[in-house]
Amino acid sequence: MDMHACRACRGSAGHLVLDLGEQPACDFFPRSDDPGPDPVYPLQMWLCSSCGLAQLLADPTVPEEPRGTEPAALVSQAADAVQRVAAAGWLPEGGVVAEYGSPHGGSWLDLLAARGQKPARRGGQADVIIDCFGMMHAADQREALAERAARIALGGVLLLQYHALSTILRCGLGSPRFLRHGGIGQQLGQAAR
Ligand SMILES: [Zn+2]
Repeated sequence: MDMHACRACRGSAGHLVLDLGEQPACDFFPRSDDPGPDPVYPLQMWLCSSCGLAQLLADPTVPEEPRGTEPAALVSQAADAVQRVAAAGWLPEGGVVAEYGSPHGGSWLDLLAARGQKPARRGGQADVIIDCFGMMHAADQREALAERAARIALGGVLLLQYHALSTILRCGLGSPRFLRHGGIGQQLGQAAR
């Protein structure tokens, strides 16, 4: 096997910490009359020794993220998060905001507009860059972070929201589906650092 390079720091030192063997892709939805078997792919989590990022070792599948109804828990969490962000003083008066949302749906833009924030032009700079479960889907974490950082206006702020690996492990939320979830494993290690 070729040496794996970390999706964030490009380091090659790390360990295979979870091997679930060959599994179907989580976003593969065959027709009911499909005789099967479903195609399977290796599902392995690798933990970077340099930066602590847990990540998929390889993912040959191309995700087709199904958009669904945003869970009520996430809707209320967004309102709570925007309240906290405002209380912390991170929303400048009449600020410009850009959002990298989750491919599964949901947006903070309406909540931010109600607080006087204006949407950035497409690809343009912003005082506030919000990423709510978006970056975790990027195969290349380093590139994704650089793209967001490059758009921050002078004195601006980048707000990233992602799942904590420690919480997932503590609550037993892991599953093959969860690990395959785009780059979910990639994000997880960051919170555990
Ligand atoms: Zn790393």
